[in-house]
Amino acid sequence: KGADGNYMVTLIPGDGIGEEIAESVKQIFKAAKAPISWEEVDVTPILKNGRTVIPDKAIASVKKNTVALKGPLATPIGKGHVSLNLTLRRTFNLFANVRPCVSIPGYKTAYDNVNTVLIRENTEGEYSGIEHEIVDGVVQSIKLITYEASERVARYAFHYASENGRDKVTAVHKAPIMRMSDGMFLTACRAVAKDYPKIAYDEDLLDRVCLRIATDPTPFADTVMVMPNLYGDILSDLSAGLIGGLGLTPSGNIGRDASIFEAVHGSAPDIAGKGLANPTALLLSSLMMLRHMNLYEIADRIEKATLGTIAEGKAITGDLGGKASTKQYTQAILDKLQ
Ligand code: NAD
Repeated sequence: KGADGNYMVTLIPGDGIGEEIAESVKQIFKAAKAPISWEEVDVTPILKNGRTVIPDKAIASVKKNTVALKGPLATPIGKGHVSLNLTLRRTFNLFANVRPCVSIPGYKTAYDNVNTVLIRENTEGEYSGIEHEIVDGVVQSIKLITYEASERVARYAFHYASENGRDKVTAVHKAPIMRMSDGMFLTACRAVAKDYPKIAYDEDLLDRVCLRIATDPTPFADTVMVMPNLYGDILSDLSAGLIGGLGLTPSGNIGRDASIFEAVHGSAPDIAGKGLANPTALLLSSLMMLRHMNLYEIADRIEKATLGTIAEGKAITGDLGGKASTKQYTQAILDKLQ
């Protein structure tokens, strides 16, 4: 906490629409009197010893505050540039990516009762970046699974279930094919399950879960799904599609040294600077952040004003079929908070 009694949180507005949607979150937090002081940092990569890196000041801020809200970062294209998102993940040991998908009342999609939580292992698996061409025309890509990382993400899934009123954890896997790697992931999940006797545990195949969730998401409302990296990437987009897309889906990167909350979407260069972006995904990410900090009451109040504004449908943004600008939508939420 800072001198004013507020919690200090690092804010990384990010690229493209980042500035516009971060501004909206700042206004809403101020109106709701959320006890948060933002420490805004720029993560525009700088050149250091011939490599692009995140400025030390930004890293130091996240290290000190241990909680950050982050806008989208455009991934630089070309050799020698590492993804800044990957750098942040590695720097702060962000081992679990939590992605809830909840139907928004008043925004019509195929189902109105989607309520899923998916936890994606965030550090290894198919994203280890170990690839090589053995001989001409033959490439090998290594899926690295460690017991340590599997156990860590499984433990977080059980912890999350018990903290958030879900009575089951489901490990999603392809162990019949990936016998050793997914096999070890399951072994770790089963071991952790023993420590949580009040939470049920089951396992399901990735392909079967895709089919089941698209057919009827109802049975997934009580469980927390946990899975290796790539499976989580794909399944979370499938789930996002069920509730109305990228303008609405938040996430939290939970780590050993810090936790960074961010929208699932990118920098949306096609609408950047036009005042048209939907800030809801970043706003819902900021509410995950508040709940992570045990600030439930304030999160509930902002959520009610936000969902109420969408349900009314009078001031919603273009991606949801409305005509409102980012500012008009934000103002409608501010009016409800008064
Ligand atoms: P994107 O998510 O930026 O955009 C996809 C489409 O969704 C676009 O048409 C965009 O206008 C729309 N959209 C996204 N967010 C929206 C919002 N809040 N309101 C209204 N419409 C929205 O995906 P992309 O175009 O593939 O990627 C653009 C850049 O973002 C790339 O450099 C990519 O690497 C980066 N990216 C970053 C992150 C991150 O920082 N976590 C995640 C994904 C992509």
